[in-house]
Amino acid sequence: MPGLDYKALGVKVGLEIHQQLDTTHKLFCECPAELTDDEGDVFLRMLRPTRSELGDVDPAALFEWRRGRMYRYHAPPSHTCLVEADEEPPHPINREAVAIALGVAMALRSTIVDEIHVMRKTVIDGSNTSGFQRTAIVALGGAIEVGGKTVPIETIVVEEDAARKLGEQGRIVDYKLDRLGIPLIEIATAPVIETPEEAKRVALAIGRLLRLTGKVKRGLGTIRQDLNVSIRGGAKTEIKGVQRLELIPKVVENEVLRQVRLLEIKDELRRRGLTEEALREVRPVDLTGLLRASKSRVIKRALKSGGKVLGVKLPLMHGILGREVMPGRRFGGEVADYARFWAGVAGIIHSDELPGYGITEEEIERIAEVLGVVRGRDAFVLVADSEEKARKAIDVVIWRVKMALEGVPEETRAALEDGTTRYMRPRPGSARMYPETDIPPQPVTQDLLEEAKRYVPKPPDAVVKELVERYGLSKDLAEAVVDDERFRVIVEALERFKGSLEPSYVAGFFIVTLRGLRGEGLDTDSIPDEKLVEVLEAVAKGEVAREAAESIAGYLAKNPEASVDEAVEALGLRKMGREEVEKVLEEIVAQLRDEILKRGERAMGLVMGRAMAKLRGRADGRLVAEVAREKIREVLARRG
Ligand SMILES: [Zn+2]
Repeated sequence: MPGLDYKALGVKVGLEIHQQLDTTHKLFCECPAELTDDEGDVFLRMLRPTRSELGDVDPAALFEWRRGRMYRYHAPPSHTCLVEADEEPPHPINREAVAIALGVAMALRSTIVDEIHVMRKTVIDGSNTSGFQRTAIVALGGAIEVGGKTVPIETIVVEEDAARKLGEQGRIVDYKLDRLGIPLIEIATAPVIETPEEAKRVALAIGRLLRLTGKVKRGLGTIRQDLNVSIRGGAKTEIKGVQRLELIPKVVENEVLRQVRLLEIKDELRRRGLTEEALREVRPVDLTGLLRASKSRVIKRALKSGGKVLGVKLPLMHGILGREVMPGRRFGGEVADYARFWAGVAGIIHSDELPGYGITEEEIERIAEVLGVVRGRDAFVLVADSEEKARKAIDVVIWRVKMALEGVPEETRAALEDGTTRYMRPRPGSARMYPETDIPPQPVTQDLLEEAKRYVPKPPDAVVKELVERYGLSKDLAEAVVDDERFRVIVEALERFKGSLEPSYVAGFFIVTLRGLRGEGLDTDSIPDEKLVEVLEAVAKGEVAREAAESIAGYLAKNPEASVDEAVEALGLRKMGREEVEKVLEEIVAQLRDEILKRGERAMGLVMGRAMAKLRGRADGRLVAEVAREKIREVLARRG
């Protein structure tokens, strides 16, 4: 964000990276650790918040429960069992997943725990059938070097992934259980990151390290970043679910900006003389009668279903609700999100956005009069809903405005696709964790540590060096391979085609060619790895020209169902066999007979020139040369 001096603002960012592990089965059962299109049985549940050992209930959990939601779970039998349905206790923790996490811990020089204790972490948004997520710390401390800076690691955790949300219908939320229980590694850094770009670099470095274990999943949704962001005088905000790395700087920028703006609002309100006492005195006023004839759709809808319109004066708040706190989001939107979450209303209407929503200037005038609002000095908020919800919503609005007097409230926010965020829920209290009694603590044995050594990722620099030495790749290309999501696939391809294709061609296909196609807007990420390897196989066998690989990959990106064979066929790229090549060469040789007789074998260049003009891209050059030589010799031999 231009104009923001991050260092001067005292920006502090911590990352929490969640990456799915590529294990043979899930964390607490033997179901395959992968998503499926299979449909399955459906069952309904309602969740209740459970008490922690200390007897208190997490306020966030309690709140979700009060919203009275029902959860509908879709359980494909091929990928779920009684464990996911919470009808059978969890099985012992997946040893492979623990070993991979320990391997990562070794690379980060973290202190590995003596015993792994599985804990339950309350989640009540329905994303887990049991009402909690199982999680286990495997290591503490450690560090990663990024751009000459040491970024401390706080914890390394293995935990189960949540169920996959399919959608919502009224109070019913649909979840699919295939993802539930897929092992995740979670790496949390200390909040020492100082700029948006640095946050991205650290995420990249951790992502690279994880990829180099060779045991992580790839593709959208397999890695998710949570961030915590604060500025001096602001508050720690948790931001959940950033799926794309490129979005990290934008998310940090926007959150810093939001905190800066909220602090400005705080100063402004104090300057204007707004106090908590003044807010404590405001009362909602029933405006139903006044607005009974309103043309506003929002109001008409509420009144039709027996609801009311309540209004409240917000003293000295003129212009504040309309202030932008991040691109496309006003302070009024922040207040509305609280009202939605805590009171379950669809939204609020505030005076800074009026006239609008079908509410006329005349109506505004009368509302202001009844509420005692001085226009140009005070503001007001309207809520149209059932009386109970509307009253609750007004309370929430006042509560949120009181927070504005303090600056930035501590909250959990959800990352959106455009890099902005929105209020999700309050930050969870410490009552969230309690021991999982169904799984005994597992000691970290010498055996397990030996097994973990297999997964310790090599330092990226060493891997680059190896690629340069073993395959003669340029350093740039080797670095791009290490940073590529398909790292493992590329290395396997380099080994497989050693001797039949130049390594720089193989690596270049994955890095340069696919990047070019992405530049044209094609979704190359969705092409299955096997198909890309098949394309190279066809080139190696001489079935298609080297230059054809790009258009075949492009075709596969556009036609996800097509096989490599079908792509080659559809594009007319099939290379000619020997017989067809012979036919073409016989014709050319006949035309050039006199020249051949005159020049002898030196006519080769001439024949090849003609032949390649006809066959380039359609036949293998080496084959054409071979046939050309034969045919020339035949002509010369016949002359006898
Ligand atoms: Zn299962």
